[in-house]
Amino acid sequence: MSYSPAHWRRVGEETRRMVAEVPLYRDRPEPPADPTAVDRWLAQMPAVGKRELRRGFPKSLVREHQDLGAAMRAEIVTLLATSGTTADRLQVIWEWSWWDPQEREAMRLNARIAAAMGSRDYREAVLTTPACGAGTCHFGSQTAAERSIDGILFFNESADPTHWTANDAERMLREWREFAPRGVEADPAYLAIIAREAIARGTKLPPPQFITLTYETTTRAMRRDIARAFDAPMYQLYGATEAGVLFMECEHGRLHPNERHSHVDLVPMRGRAPLARVLVTTLGRPWMPLLRYDVGDVVRVAETRDCACGLRSDGPLLERVEGRLGDCEEVDGETVTPLMLDDAIHAELGPNSTLVQWQLAADTLLVVDPGDAQSAERAAAAVGALLKRRLRGERVAAIAPEASGKYRLVKR
Ligand SMILES: [Zn+2]
Repeated sequence: MSYSPAHWRRVGEETRRMVAEVPLYRDRPEPPADPTAVDRWLAQMPAVGKRELRRGFPKSLVREHQDLGAAMRAEIVTLLATSGTTADRLQVIWEWSWWDPQEREAMRLNARIAAAMGSRDYREAVLTTPACGAGTCHFGSQTAAERSIDGILFFNESADPTHWTANDAERMLREWREFAPRGVEADPAYLAIIAREAIARGTKLPPPQFITLTYETTTRAMRRDIARAFDAPMYQLYGATEAGVLFMECEHGRLHPNERHSHVDLVPMRGRAPLARVLVTTLGRPWMPLLRYDVGDVVRVAETRDCACGLRSDGPLLERVEGRLGDCEEVDGETVTPLMLDDAIHAELGPNSTLVQWQLAADTLLVVDPGDAQSAERAAAAVGALLKRRLRGERVAAIAPEASGKYRLVKR
C-alpha cells in the first residue's frame, strides 16, 4: 500500500458516498470501513470508460439529492462537450467553482508557478481551441475584452490553426505584446505555431514567467520551437475536462499528483518500460464524481517518489505523458507509445532537425519539414524499425487537425 492512511480514509469516505448516491455506481459493493482495506476493494472495482459515462448521461451521474435542472438554472453547473475526437467526445457536468480551485491548486504544486501567481501583477492568457478554454466559447470575432474572463485573456477564436490568416496571427501577436501575460496556458501545437509566426516575423514577444502545456501531447518539435520564441520555462499540466487536473510538472521535470482532488491508480502496461494506464477516482467533487475512470492515456511512471523540488507526494510521480492509449501499438509484447515514435524520429534526424510536425496515418508517416526534403523517408524508416513494419514516408505541406481542433499523432 503506497498512500498514507489519511488518504485511504478519504478515498473510502468519498467512494462510499458515490456508491450510495450515484446511479452509475449503485451496483458496486460498499467500500470497507477499514481504511487499510480500501486499496484492495478499489482494485476490484471495474474501470469506467467513456462509454459508461455516456450511457444514461446525465441522470446516471447525478447524486440522488441533487437537482441538475435547478443547478443549471442557477448557473452552478453547465453541460459541456469535451474537445476530443468524435469517438472520444464526451458530455460533462461541469462546475466552474470546482474546476478553478483544483486547477489553481495543481498549478501551485510547482514552486515557480506558485511564486508567479502570488505576485500582484499576475495575469494569464490561454491559447487553445476556442471551444475548450475554461468551458467558455470564443468562436467568431470578439474584442480582447470580450475574450477575457476573471482577468484571463483567451487569444484564439477559430478552431483550426491551419486556417489562421496573416491577420489572425498579427492580432494574437499584438495582443500578446500588449497584454504581456505573466502565465500562459497553451495547447503545445497552437503555441508552437504562434512561436514560428513570431520568429518568421522577427516579432519579439515579452516572455511570460512560465508556460503550462496541456490539452494534447507535446512533441519535441513543438517544444523546440516554443523554446526558440520564448525564454520561459515550460511545464506539463496533465488533466482532462471530465476528470480535472491530475498531475502537474514541477521545476525538476517530474509530474506530481494533484492528490487533494483525485486518487489515481496506475495500471501497468505490457512491456519493460514503466508505462501505465490512468484510472481516476475524484475527491471532493460534488457533481459528476468519477470512480475508477479510465482517462484513456498512457503515462511513464517515475522510479521514485523523491524529487529534488522537495515536494512530498503521497502517490507516485510521473516522468511524462506518453499519449493516448488508442494510439499505442503492441510490438512483441512491448507497448510502443506516440512519444516513443517521436523519440525515434528525433534520434534519427538529430538535434538540427527542421521537422515541425508528423502524423502516422496507417502505413504512411506524414512529415511537415520545410527545410529538409529527405527527412520523411528517414523518419519513416526509424518509426518502421520500432513498429517492425514497413512504412512509407511522405513529405506534406501541412497536417490538418481533427474537427475538434486537436491534432492527432496517430490515425488508424
Ligand atoms: Zn518535484
